[in-house]
Amino acid sequence: MLSTISSSKEAMQLEDQYGAHNYHPLPVVLNRGEGVFLWDVEGKKYFDFLSAYSAVNQGHCHPRIIDALKKQAETLTLTSRAFYSDKLGVAEKYLCDFFGYDKSILMNSGAEANETAIKLARRWGYTKKNIPANEAIIVVAKENFHGRTTTIISASTDPVAKDGFGPYMPGFQIIDYDNLEALEEALKNPNVCGFLVEPIQGEAGVYVPTEGYVKGAQELCTKYNVIFMCDEVQTGVARTGQMLCADHSGIKPDMIILGKAISGGVMPVSAVLTNDEIMLGIKPGEHGSTYGGNPLACAVMMEALEVVKDENLMDHAEAMGKIFRDRMEALCDKHDKMKLVRGKGLLNAVVINDTPDSHTAWNICVAMKENGLLAKPTHGNIIRFAPPLVITEEQVHECCDIIDKTLSEF
Ligand code: PLP
Repeated sequence: MLSTISSSKEAMQLEDQYGAHNYHPLPVVLNRGEGVFLWDVEGKKYFDFLSAYSAVNQGHCHPRIIDALKKQAETLTLTSRAFYSDKLGVAEKYLCDFFGYDKSILMNSGAEANETAIKLARRWGYTKKNIPANEAIIVVAKENFHGRTTTIISASTDPVAKDGFGPYMPGFQIIDYDNLEALEEALKNPNVCGFLVEPIQGEAGVYVPTEGYVKGAQELCTKYNVIFMCDEVQTGVARTGQMLCADHSGIKPDMIILGKAISGGVMPVSAVLTNDEIMLGIKPGEHGSTYGGNPLACAVMMEALEVVKDENLMDHAEAMGKIFRDRMEALCDKHDKMKLVRGKGLLNAVVINDTPDSHTAWNICVAMKENGLLAKPTHGNIIRFAPPLVITEEQVHECCDIIDKTLSEF
């Protein structure tokens, strides 16, 4: 018989003893979720202000997504890509129609989708841009976060993600974020096949680039015949108040990378969407994943995206985000510990008035937990606030009151 745990303390002790220590979780053990709420094993209820790093945009255990999961799980879960399934083509068409692209490829994690994007860009560089073999370069931005694979960390500037895991993959040029001059300089190199960038740098601390950056980047990529690759794993699926963050700039990237919320936090699904020319560079046997595009993932993903559309989560995220930032700006004036708030839609961060290596942000998160709200620091003195997009206006105010009360305790 499988054993169960009897207390939070026991669950934390088990993870500590038998699990890898690759995360430093807040001391809370959760066993139930519904909408914007999570409950711990002792029954205490919390507002979730992380949404599993923006995966649970539709709210925890959304009944429609769970129904789709159950129905498909009772029918067929996995065929592998050795055979066709009755769901994959339907899901690929759905994705292409939904986001306006020719072709899609389904994978599992965000990192895998970025790996896929890198391969697609390199292959296009060799076959269509005539870049000499093994010379292709992908330009990336400082402070990026695209995942944890050895190739992707080779493009990272974060020593915590990178140090001690070398040797690193060549073929990346790292430039300043939000700097079109640096981008243009880099793109002049004829060996550049792609520019991989987040339209808002989420993990780095919700850095919103200046107005015009994303549009300017797309234009420069077009000018220099380079693929503009937008990593929307965290910013996509209504999180920032538009279906894609790139929509705020009125542009369509040559390639988008999606993950997290395309399955509403129900199972790992990720995708890359692009045009025929780029996608058809990869031939049978050259790329894949056993679980990529499995029928269960397809059914869950389509329902998760239908929910976003039907519940108009884009406009709702935009409206709730404005209320949240207004309230946080007022708190910045009130509390010394709060320096500034920034973000778009419901992807926001508050910068704590302390050094990045201080424990203040962590301590505030622990205190907010005691007051019924779960959030997590990112990079020292920054706290990300990203609730499920189904949060109501009343709940936004209730949560702002919790943040206010917590800061008053400091
Ligand atoms: N890309 C971005 C922009 C992300 O924010 C993340 C995760 O936070 C990833 C990629 C990696 O996704 P995953 O953790 O599913 O591999």
